[in-house]
Amino acid sequence: MTTIASRLQAVKARIFEAARAAGRTPGEITLVAVSKTFPPQAVAEACAAGQTDFGENYAQEGIEKIAALFDLIRQRNASPERPQTWHYIGPIQSNKTRSIAEHFDWVHGIDREKIAERLSASRPDDKPPLQVCIQVNVSGEASKSGVTPDAVFGLAQTIMRLPRLRLRGLMAIPEPTSDPALQRSRLRMLREIRDELLRRGVELDTLSMGMSDDLEAAIAEGATMVRVGRAIFGERGASAG
Ligand SMILES: *Cc1c(COP(=O)(O)O)cnc(C)c1O
Repeated sequence: MTTIASRLQAVKARIFEAARAAGRTPGEITLVAVSKTFPPQAVAEACAAGQTDFGENYAQEGIEKIAALFDLIRQRNASPERPQTWHYIGPIQSNKTRSIAEHFDWVHGIDREKIAERLSASRPDDKPPLQVCIQVNVSGEASKSGVTPDAVFGLAQTIMRLPRLRLRGLMAIPEPTSDPALQRSRLRMLREIRDELLRRGVELDTLSMGMSDDLEAAIAEGATMVRVGRAIFGERGASAG
């Protein structure tokens, strides 16, 4: 087994164990393998080990990797059992909305109406609607990205009116803290906001939270998608995201 395959298996075992400990079904939790900064060969290895969902932070890098992976798989004539699903999880610049809408299946970090509108307008007609999450700032002043909790409902209503987007849920990147109780309460906050939206009639099935270091806490708080990079692909280079 390759290193990536065995690390992937270890991460799946962590997800399984965390789900079991929380009384949840492991099948409710999707693992998004965050391949930013790693080459297409690394993604191909993960595909060969059965991984289908991948996350990228930078539009250009992600798009080049999607194309390179397609060629690689074709060259090896080894079609994976299932096609890949690509998640854009990075910050969204407005001049990148078109290329993101053309190449990705999911976008996790929507935090402005203008970005949502642009993504919807440039989603190609021959593809299904773009699956999206609203990024919520659960860390208060410690973070600048994401909408404030009181603005989530308004943004959700805007997104639900956009024809080429399908609102799936909420996403957060809690600022790292050495205080486990604080980390936990930030994860819980995202679930509570989701529950409040459900009460107000917004249909959501996704809570995208949890990374290499906090996936257990995130699953305990209800995560349905964990985004894991280092624990699968190894440490990223010092200069890389
Ligand atoms: C890099 C990144 C991850 C993965 O983080 P790891 O610590 O490598 O698991 C998850 N989500 C987002 C938004 C990221 O930028």
